[in-house]
Amino acid sequence: RGVSSNVRLSRKDVVQNWIKQGESFELTETCKLVLLEGDITEWHIDGQTDAIVNAANTRLLGGGGVDGAIHDAAGRELKEACRQIPQVTRGVRCPTGEARITRGFRLPVSRIIHTVGPIYWNNSRAAEQLQDAYKNSCSLAVQEGLKYIAFPAISCGIYGYPVEEAASVALRTVKETSAGLQEVHFVLFEEKAYFTWSNEAESTLKKI
Ligand code: ADP
Repeated sequence: RGVSSNVRLSRKDVVQNWIKQGESFELTETCKLVLLEGDITEWHIDGQTDAIVNAANTRLLGGGGVDGAIHDAAGRELKEACRQIPQVTRGVRCPTGEARITRGFRLPVSRIIHTVGPIYWNNSRAAEQLQDAYKNSCSLAVQEGLKYIAFPAISCGIYGYPVEEAASVALRTVKETSAGLQEVHFVLFEEKAYFTWSNEAESTLKKI
Protein backbone atom coordinates (compact mmCIF):
# COMPACT_ATOMS: atom_id res chain seq x y z
CA ARG A 1 0.00 0.00 0.00
CA GLY A 2 2.94 2.29 0.82
CA VAL A 3 2.94 5.99 0.21
CA SER A 4 -0.36 6.29 -1.62
CA SER A 5 -2.13 4.75 1.36
CA ASN A 6 -0.75 7.48 3.64
CA VAL A 7 -1.90 10.18 1.29
CA ARG A 8 -5.31 8.61 1.00
CA LEU A 9 -5.66 8.13 4.73
CA SER A 10 -5.00 11.74 5.56
CA ARG A 11 -7.39 12.93 2.89
CA LYS A 12 -10.10 10.55 4.02
CA ASP A 13 -9.65 11.58 7.64
CA VAL A 14 -10.67 15.07 6.64
CA VAL A 15 -13.45 13.93 4.36
CA GLN A 16 -14.92 11.59 6.93
CA ASN A 17 -15.89 14.59 9.04
CA TRP A 18 -18.60 14.95 6.47
CA ILE A 19 -20.35 11.95 8.03
CA LYS A 20 -22.44 13.58 10.73
CA GLN A 21 -24.17 12.37 13.85
CA GLY A 22 -23.46 9.18 15.61
CA GLU A 23 -25.45 7.10 18.02
CA SER A 24 -24.52 3.68 19.33
CA PHE A 25 -26.70 0.87 20.59
CA GLU A 26 -26.16 -2.63 21.89
CA LEU A 27 -27.28 -4.81 19.01
CA THR A 28 -26.29 -8.04 20.76
CA GLU A 29 -23.89 -8.84 23.59
CA THR A 30 -20.98 -8.96 21.14
CA CYS A 31 -22.02 -6.55 18.40
CA LYS A 32 -22.54 -2.78 18.44
CA LEU A 33 -24.96 -0.88 16.20
CA VAL A 34 -23.89 2.60 15.01
CA LEU A 35 -26.18 5.05 13.21
CA LEU A 36 -24.61 7.78 11.10
CA GLU A 37 -25.89 10.39 8.69
CA GLY A 38 -23.91 10.99 5.50
CA ASP A 39 -22.35 9.53 2.37
CA ILE A 40 -21.49 5.84 2.64
CA THR A 41 -18.62 6.15 0.12
CA GLU A 42 -16.68 8.02 2.79
CA TRP A 43 -17.15 5.41 5.50
CA HIS A 44 -14.29 3.17 6.65
CA ILE A 45 -12.90 1.67 9.83
CA ASP A 46 -9.55 0.01 9.19
CA GLY A 47 -9.39 -0.74 5.46
CA GLN A 48 -8.88 -4.43 6.22
CA THR A 49 -11.85 -5.97 7.92
CA ASP A 50 -14.46 -3.43 6.83
CA ALA A 51 -17.04 -3.46 4.04
CA ILE A 52 -19.77 -1.21 2.77
CA VAL A 53 -22.92 -2.65 1.29
CA ASN A 54 -24.15 -1.46 -2.07
CA ALA A 55 -27.88 -1.39 -2.85
CA ALA A 56 -27.32 -2.62 -6.39
CA ASN A 57 -29.56 -3.97 -9.13
CA THR A 58 -29.51 -7.53 -10.45
CA ARG A 59 -27.14 -6.68 -13.33
CA LEU A 60 -24.47 -5.35 -10.93
CA LEU A 61 -23.07 -2.91 -13.47
CA GLY A 62 -23.93 0.29 -11.66
CA GLY A 63 -27.04 2.46 -11.61
CA GLY A 64 -28.47 5.52 -9.84
CA GLY A 65 -28.59 6.49 -6.18
CA VAL A 66 -26.12 4.91 -3.82
CA ASP A 67 -25.06 2.39 -6.50
CA GLY A 68 -23.98 5.23 -8.80
CA ALA A 69 -22.17 7.00 -5.97
CA ILE A 70 -20.27 3.82 -5.06
CA HIS A 71 -19.27 3.08 -8.67
CA ASP A 72 -18.16 6.69 -9.21
CA ALA A 73 -16.04 6.68 -6.07
CA ALA A 74 -14.60 3.16 -6.49
CA GLY A 75 -13.53 3.76 -10.09
CA ARG A 76 -13.77 1.79 -13.32
CA GLU A 77 -12.08 -1.28 -11.90
CA LEU A 78 -15.19 -1.94 -9.85
CA LYS A 79 -17.34 -2.25 -12.94
CA GLU A 80 -14.77 -4.60 -14.46
CA ALA A 81 -14.79 -6.76 -11.31
CA CYS A 82 -18.59 -6.85 -11.33
CA ARG A 83 -18.65 -7.83 -14.99
CA GLN A 84 -16.57 -10.90 -14.10
CA ILE A 85 -19.15 -12.16 -11.62
CA PRO A 86 -20.95 -14.99 -13.42
CA GLN A 87 -24.49 -14.48 -14.67
CA VAL A 88 -27.00 -16.85 -13.10
CA THR A 89 -29.60 -16.10 -15.76
CA ARG A 90 -29.37 -13.75 -18.71
CA GLY A 91 -28.01 -10.41 -17.46
CA VAL A 92 -28.58 -11.35 -13.81
CA ARG A 93 -25.44 -11.57 -11.68
CA CYS A 94 -27.19 -11.22 -8.34
CA PRO A 95 -30.85 -12.20 -7.91
CA THR A 96 -32.98 -10.11 -5.55
CA GLY A 97 -32.16 -10.85 -1.90
CA GLU A 98 -28.75 -12.38 -2.64
CA ALA A 99 -25.27 -10.83 -2.19
CA ARG A 100 -21.92 -10.81 -3.99
CA ILE A 101 -18.54 -9.40 -2.92
CA THR A 102 -15.75 -7.43 -4.61
CA ARG A 103 -12.70 -5.51 -3.49
CA GLY A 104 -13.13 -1.87 -2.55
CA PHE A 105 -10.80 -0.49 -5.24
CA ARG A 106 -10.56 3.30 -4.76
CA LEU A 107 -12.82 3.30 -1.74
CA PRO A 108 -11.13 3.31 1.66
CA VAL A 109 -12.78 0.01 2.62
CA SER A 110 -11.48 -3.48 2.03
CA ARG A 111 -14.60 -4.91 0.42
CA ILE A 112 -17.89 -3.96 -1.18
CA ILE A 113 -20.81 -6.30 -0.68
CA HIS A 114 -23.36 -5.90 -3.45
CA THR A 115 -26.89 -6.87 -2.61
CA VAL A 116 -30.20 -6.35 -4.37
CA GLY A 117 -33.18 -5.18 -2.38
CA PRO A 118 -36.78 -5.66 -3.54
CA ILE A 119 -38.84 -3.28 -5.63
CA TYR A 120 -41.64 -2.48 -3.19
CA TRP A 121 -44.72 -2.02 -5.37
CA ASN A 122 -46.96 -5.00 -6.22
CA ASN A 123 -44.54 -7.31 -4.49
CA SER A 124 -45.98 -9.62 -1.85
CA ARG A 125 -42.48 -10.93 -1.06
CA ALA A 126 -40.92 -7.50 -0.45
CA ALA A 127 -40.40 -7.91 3.32
CA GLU A 128 -38.92 -11.38 2.93
CA GLN A 129 -36.60 -10.20 0.16
CA LEU A 130 -35.45 -7.17 2.15
CA GLN A 131 -34.73 -9.46 5.07
CA ASP A 132 -32.74 -11.76 2.77
CA ALA A 133 -30.69 -8.84 1.44
CA TYR A 134 -29.59 -7.88 4.97
CA LYS A 135 -29.15 -11.47 6.09
CA ASN A 136 -27.10 -12.60 3.09
CA SER A 137 -24.90 -9.47 3.29
CA CYS A 138 -24.12 -10.16 6.96
CA SER A 139 -23.45 -13.87 6.30
CA LEU A 140 -21.12 -13.08 3.42
CA ALA A 141 -19.25 -10.57 5.58
CA VAL A 142 -18.78 -13.13 8.35
CA GLN A 143 -17.75 -15.80 5.86
CA GLU A 144 -15.07 -13.43 4.50
CA GLY A 145 -13.74 -12.71 7.99
CA LEU A 146 -14.91 -9.10 8.06
CA LYS A 147 -15.69 -7.38 11.35
CA TYR A 148 -17.25 -4.05 10.39
CA ILE A 149 -20.06 -3.53 7.90
CA ALA A 150 -21.96 -0.41 6.84
CA PHE A 151 -25.36 -0.48 5.17
CA PRO A 152 -27.32 2.19 3.35
CA ALA A 153 -31.14 2.15 3.58
CA ILE A 154 -31.58 -0.67 1.05
CA SER A 155 -34.64 -0.24 -1.24
CA CYS A 156 -35.63 3.11 0.34
CA GLY A 157 -34.81 5.17 -2.77
CA ILE A 158 -35.77 4.29 -6.32
CA TYR A 159 -37.19 0.93 -5.16
CA GLY A 160 -39.84 2.69 -3.07
CA TYR A 161 -39.77 0.86 0.25
CA PRO A 162 -41.47 2.93 2.99
CA VAL A 163 -38.78 4.05 5.44
CA GLU A 164 -40.62 3.07 8.65
CA GLU A 165 -41.21 -0.49 7.49
CA ALA A 166 -37.69 -0.76 6.10
CA ALA A 167 -36.11 0.41 9.37
CA SER A 168 -37.97 -2.24 11.32
CA VAL A 169 -36.98 -5.05 8.93
CA ALA A 170 -33.37 -3.80 8.76
CA LEU A 171 -32.78 -3.60 12.50
CA ARG A 172 -34.58 -6.85 13.32
CA THR A 173 -32.64 -8.74 10.64
CA VAL A 174 -29.16 -7.44 11.45
CA LYS A 175 -29.78 -8.23 15.11
CA GLU A 176 -30.54 -11.84 14.17
CA THR A 177 -27.62 -12.25 11.77
CA SER A 178 -24.77 -10.18 13.21
CA ALA A 179 -23.08 -12.98 15.20
CA GLY A 180 -19.41 -12.87 14.21
CA LEU A 181 -19.42 -9.15 13.40
CA GLN A 182 -18.09 -6.52 15.77
CA GLU A 183 -20.03 -3.49 14.55
CA VAL A 184 -22.91 -2.95 12.16
CA HIS A 185 -23.26 0.64 10.91
CA PHE A 186 -26.00 2.31 8.93
CA VAL A 187 -24.94 5.38 6.95
CA LEU A 188 -28.16 7.19 6.14
CA PHE A 189 -28.14 9.80 3.45
CA GLU A 190 -31.42 11.48 4.23
CA GLU A 191 -32.35 13.07 7.52
CA LYS A 192 -35.72 11.34 7.47
CA ALA A 193 -34.12 7.92 7.19
CA TYR A 194 -31.67 8.79 9.95
CA PHE A 195 -34.40 9.82 12.38
CA THR A 196 -36.58 6.84 11.47
CA TRP A 197 -33.71 4.40 12.10
CA SER A 198 -32.87 6.25 15.29
CA ASN A 199 -36.45 6.03 16.62
CA GLU A 200 -36.67 2.37 15.74
CA ALA A 201 -33.36 1.64 17.49
CA GLU A 202 -34.39 3.63 20.57
CA SER A 203 -37.58 1.67 20.93
CA THR A 204 -36.00 -1.76 20.48
CA LEU A 205 -32.37 -1.58 21.67
CA LYS A 206 -30.29 -0.32 24.56
CA LYS A 207 -28.39 2.92 23.90
CA ILE A 208 -24.67 2.96 24.76
P1 ADP B 1 -32.75 1.36 -4.05
O1 ADP B 1 -32.82 1.13 -5.53
O2 ADP B 1 -32.34 0.12 -3.27
O3 ADP B 1 -33.97 2.02 -3.53
P2 ADP B 1 -31.29 3.91 -3.94
O4 ADP B 1 -29.86 4.13 -4.18
O5 ADP B 1 -32.27 4.54 -4.84
O6 ADP B 1 -31.47 2.30 -3.88
O7 ADP B 1 -31.64 4.34 -2.46
C1 ADP B 1 -31.31 3.64 -1.31
C2 ADP B 1 -31.02 4.63 -0.20
O8 ADP B 1 -29.67 5.08 -0.33
C3 ADP B 1 -31.89 5.88 -0.20
O9 ADP B 1 -32.32 6.12 1.14
C4 ADP B 1 -30.94 6.97 -0.68
O10 ADP B 1 -31.26 8.22 -0.11
C5 ADP B 1 -29.63 6.47 -0.12
N1 ADP B 1 -28.41 7.02 -0.73
C6 ADP B 1 -28.21 7.62 -1.92
N2 ADP B 1 -26.92 7.99 -2.08
C7 ADP B 1 -26.26 7.58 -0.93
C8 ADP B 1 -24.92 7.67 -0.45
N3 ADP B 1 -23.95 8.24 -1.17
N4 ADP B 1 -24.64 7.17 0.79
C9 ADP B 1 -25.59 6.58 1.53
N5 ADP B 1 -26.88 6.45 1.13
C10 ADP B 1 -27.21 6.95 -0.08
